[in-house]
This record gives sequence, C-alpha cells and structure tokens, in this order.
Amino acid sequence: MSKESIKKRVLDAIDARADEIIDVGETIWVKPELGFKEWKTAELAERKYGEMGWVYESKIGITGSKAYLKKRGRGPVIGVIGELDAIRVPDHPECDPITGAAHSCGHNAQMAAMLGAGFGLNDVMGELDGNVALLAVPAEEYLEIDYRNSLREKGKLEFFGGKQEFIRVGAMKDITMSLGSHTDSEITEKLSVGGSNNGFVGKMVHYIGLEAHAGGSPHKGINALNAAMLGLMGIHAQRETFRDEDNIRVHPIITKGGEIVNNVPADVRMESYVRGKTVEAIKDANAKVNRALKAGAMAVGAECEIDDHPGYMPYIKDAALDGVLKANAASLVGDEQIKIKGHSTGSTDLGDVSCIMPTTSIGMGGCTGRGHGRDYKIVDTQIAYVLPAKVMALTCVDLLYDKAKLAKKITKGFKPTIPPEDYTSFMQRLVA
Ligand SMILES: [Zn+2]
Repeated sequence: MSKESIKKRVLDAIDARADEIIDVGETIWVKPELGFKEWKTAELAERKYGEMGWVYESKIGITGSKAYLKKRGRGPVIGVIGELDAIRVPDHPECDPITGAAHSCGHNAQMAAMLGAGFGLNDVMGELDGNVALLAVPAEEYLEIDYRNSLREKGKLEFFGGKQEFIRVGAMKDITMSLGSHTDSEITEKLSVGGSNNGFVGKMVHYIGLEAHAGGSPHKGINALNAAMLGLMGIHAQRETFRDEDNIRVHPIITKGGEIVNNVPADVRMESYVRGKTVEAIKDANAKVNRALKAGAMAVGAECEIDDHPGYMPYIKDAALDGVLKANAASLVGDEQIKIKGHSTGSTDLGDVSCIMPTTSIGMGGCTGRGHGRDYKIVDTQIAYVLPAKVMALTCVDLLYDKAKLAKKITKGFKPTIPPEDYTSFMQRLVA
C-alpha cells in the first residue's frame, strides 16, 4: 500500500472513532488525579488497550503502562507518550473537592491523543516496520515533594517524575524515539511545534529554630521564620547576577511557617525549584540560592537543612523528528495555523527523555485560560483531543514506512547527551 493510502486510512480510522477519543478526554477531565496516584486514569487506559487487543504492561513507575500495537515488530519502536496526572488547583471550579486536583495543565488531552493515535494506527501496523508503543506515564508535574520523598524512602521510586522512573526501571530501553503532546493555551493557532524548555533542581528547605513564648520571652527563642525570610531576601539579592540567556527561575514557597502563634516559630519549611536553560546555569544558580538560604539561618543563629533532588533535564527537541511532526501538522491545518515556539522557562520530564533518544512533541490549542490556573479549560475538543492524535499517528507512518528508513536515519543522526545506561547515576550526581 502507498504511504498516502496508509495515511488516509489512519485519518479515516481516527475520524470514525472521534467521539470515543473525545469521551476519553472528557472522562479524564472530570476525574483528575495527582501524580503517582492516577489509578482511575490508568484503569481507563488499560481498559482501552484490552478492548483493542493490545499486549500491555501495567504498574510501571507505580501507575504507568505501556501497550504495543503489534505483538512483536522488528525494527525501531516509536513511543507515543500521554501523561496521566493532574495538578493541584483547589480554586478550579471543576477540581476534585477532596484532593483539589484539576486538569489545569490539560494532560487529559494527551491521554485522548495517545489512545487516538493508537486507534488510527491499529489497522495499518501490518504495512509498517518496527512497532508503536503507547506509554501512559504518571507524574509529569513535580509536586507533593514530601509525599514522593516518602515513596522514595520506602524504595518505591527514586526520581519524582514519571518519565524519569520509566527510564530508571528500563521501560524506555526498547523505545527508539518518543513523541508527546501538550495543550498550549498561549497560542491563537491550532498547533505549535519547535521550542525548548528549562530544566531544574528541586529543593526542600528546613529551618530549625528554638521555640519560646512569643510575647513573654522571645529573647530565649530562635526565630526560624525570620531566618527563612532573610533566606528569601538573600535569593532576591542574587537575581541581578542571573544572566538573561540562562533563563533562571527561582520560585520558593513556604509550606510551614510555624507551630502556634504565641510561640517563636522553630520549624519552618520551604520548597523551591531552581530552573535554567542549561545544566551549568542551573548548578551555578543553585549554589547561589543555597548560599543565600544558609545566610538567613546564620543571621539569627538558626539551622538550615537543604535537601536537593534531581529535577528535570532541559528539553531539547530533536530537530529532524520535529521537522517530520511539523510537516504532518501542516498537512492537516496549513502553515498559518502552526506557531513556531521559542524557549519556555517551564519544565517537563520529556527533557530527560530527550537526553537519551530523539524526542519531540506537538502543542495543541483548543484550550483557554492560564496554564495551571483556575480558569483553564478545554474549549475545542477536536483541536485538543483529535487533531494531535492525527499528527502523531501520521508521523509514526512516515517514520516506519518503507523498512522504517526515516526512523533509522533520525536515530543515526542523534547523539545522546546522557548515555541511557548512565542515566540514574548522572541524575544523582547532579545534586550530590
Ligand atoms: Zn503539563
């Protein structure tokens, strides 16, 4: 069969099941779950794999799964990634009233797109070499650090991002290259391509003071909240030293400010990210931030414990793979409906994937409001759910058609920035 007729069959199959794809997106939207707890979302994905007769593995990285469209394919395996998790936005009108989780980052759309790509490709896999694996990955949002740290202490995970855990446990070993998707409420066009993202280091900070009567004898105490405030001011004093080209972002929060109001605060906790465009820039900024945090403690005689964790690596899209994605996007919506993105100061664990294999992702419109905000919502289900399924499925056809020549060429031209087998030790060394 010609490549064009395969592509037509793929598009027809996706259109025929558009209602089901939209239903997946809408069902996940109303049941948002936080990272490493996405049990219902995982169950929905696995039910769909089962209905399609796809062989799959589950409980990878706690809630993740991986389904193969062919029983066994020789040659490159394209990983199509969907993220399972929501974010905590307790002010979102459609949040889960108990957990405060809401899909204010639109990951529900990714799950619809991932499964939709599978529906489109299912009947043409015999015409293609290699294989396609659908990867439903937990915990893209790096949050609830305390909870994830408790899982780490129990030996259930090592890293706080789902794709990082997929890499660590070997679930990416047989994947040759990866395609992802993400909603983009910043664009007026239908789709976006290109761009790059900051990486970061994650941080937990503990200021230890000494409690004493806040009114009667504050001179007997050590005020850990004052230490934390001086630490924050110290961080602000570093900002003029951050170079524009490094795109540093430091945004700490205080998660505990004291025990009781009539005691001098003796136990104050903070969390932060230190983000930047390159690993060198992140390390440099992180050293300054840690120095500032400790200075706050020194000023009042408190103690400061800093616990740094590997965050995500900077995301560098593979230019050749992104070119294939863009061409397919343009074939569906035209060049004028595609936004070419620049550098984003946000972060994603697709960055980690992009260090070990060719990786790219499509941005889709169809949503409005602020990303991670209470006003975020999906407004066009075709653009948010169905269109990215088509772009990713057509890209898989290009990659795997004719003995997977294009996939092999892209793989040959790719140089990993971290040898895949060294990934875990490389990440651990980042914060050592
Ligand atoms: Zn997101």
